[in-house]
Amino acid sequence: MPASPPAHHAVPHVAVWLRQDLRAADNTALLAACADPRTRVTALYAITPGQWQQHDVAGVRIDFELRQLACLRDELAALNIPLCLLEADDYAALVPVLARWADAHGVTTLHANRQYEINEQARDRAVASALQAQDIDTHWHEDLCIVPPGRVLTGDRRFYTVFTPFRRNWQQQLDDHGTRPRGLPAQREAMAYGVSASPLPERIAGYPSHVDAGVARALWPAGEAHAHDRLAGFITEAGGDYDRRRDLPAIDGTSTLSPYLAAGVLSARQCLHAARRQLAHARDARGLDTWIGELCWRDFYKHILVGFPHVCRHQAFKRETDAIAWRHDDALFRAWCEGRTGYPVVDAAMRQLLETGWMHNRLRMISAMFLSKDLFIDWRLGERHFMRHLIDGDLSANNGGWQWSASTGNDAAPYFRVFNPTLQGRKFDPDGEFIRRFLPALAGLDARRVHEPHAKQVDALLDYPLPVVDHGEARLHAIAAFRALAPAG
Ligand code: FAD
Repeated sequence: MPASPPAHHAVPHVAVWLRQDLRAADNTALLAACADPRTRVTALYAITPGQWQQHDVAGVRIDFELRQLACLRDELAALNIPLCLLEADDYAALVPVLARWADAHGVTTLHANRQYEINEQARDRAVASALQAQDIDTHWHEDLCIVPPGRVLTGDRRFYTVFTPFRRNWQQQLDDHGTRPRGLPAQREAMAYGVSASPLPERIAGYPSHVDAGVARALWPAGEAHAHDRLAGFITEAGGDYDRRRDLPAIDGTSTLSPYLAAGVLSARQCLHAARRQLAHARDARGLDTWIGELCWRDFYKHILVGFPHVCRHQAFKRETDAIAWRHDDALFRAWCEGRTGYPVVDAAMRQLLETGWMHNRLRMISAMFLSKDLFIDWRLGERHFMRHLIDGDLSANNGGWQWSASTGNDAAPYFRVFNPTLQGRKFDPDGEFIRRFLPALAGLDARRVHEPHAKQVDALLDYPLPVVDHGEARLHAIAAFRALAPAG
């Protein structure tokens, strides 16, 4: 007869709360929770639809997380760790729900990986004090970045505001901060747990995804195994050419790993490690070295959140730019959101976002600059629209990208360098292949006309709008408005 499993109430109960780290391997909080083999461990995930709505989390992102949770539940079950769901409308309501759950299940310790946005930090402080009142220890781990915020500082211990010296310093620290990924925790002894895995919902009521479910599943399959295959495929096939091909939206020149990094299906350490391993025997380092630079941008913008928390409240990094009198024009804004500006590269980009939940980086820059400079509409509206539609929506990267494009951020595009959307289209989609893919109305146009369908004369037969603004005039207007700003004292 097999020995009966130990009674759960005799064994300390450790909880690990998973948030932006939905993976079993190389998960600092999970490994810490599992460090003592004599404990039982439960993983938690909180469903907070009201909070998600407040934070503009996209339905396509929630759908991706639910699919990922189903994979993670099976991975964790193989380690004898149940995954339980907690439900509360928002963070304020979640704190007592979590505290009650911990009390009811005899939790002794809670582990979680730190998040850096101000709302999440306030939530974690509230959880820590509620649990402390119940004699439950909380441990908050650094995991999200390769080098955690606050570790890459200038000589006088300030946060960097410029990327190039940040990267130099970051690079020097890579080996000092446990950047080598770790594996899975050891399988735990099966025991009568007193906790069973929760059933997972397939969708959250009132939280639809704007992307067709079949399209989302085909483009963004869930699961750590898939994410690792995608990483390996990129590193071996496209990584070497990344520096030359990353700006061309018509081809698969970038990793498309951002949804996996944003939800934590992959850790940035795992990405860095894979790139460095390949670099060890690569003849030309430029491609992957440039790619490692993008992982560094990710850390850079997380540092900015912590060093300059006003950006979490969507205030401009350069405070003087908050004085800009942006144009209020709902019809123009809607034309941008729906891909009807009459500038093909912008419109194709906006349709890519609507149809796939993702947009190529070059196009994010072009469309963000078009909204903030050509249409002269407040970048915050665009930032919000992106968050509501991106599968990889992330406050630090999105805010950083928007403030870069709008010239309101640290180390931003200089305000006088306004992208010409037609020239950007010609340069980065020279044959118009990407444009035709997302704008079927232009499918019959050749490589020259596809970038300026109405250039020679208005083609009344073409189901495509005229440009909503004149780029030349709009550029001069934006430059004059920025030039008139007094620098903040
Ligand atoms: P790759 O080129 O393969 O890069 C690898 C990884 O590095 C990315 O997956 C991402 O995690 C990180 N990364 C790359 N570029 C940046 C960057 N500029 N800043 C921070 N991290 C970066 N990225 C997001 O993850 N979420 C967002 O919400 C987001 N919003 C953006 C908004 C604007 C206006 C701009 C200009 C950029 C934004 N980015 C955002 C950054 C970038 O566009 C995406 O990370 C990238 O397009 C994702 O594609 P990829 O995975 O193929 O990237």
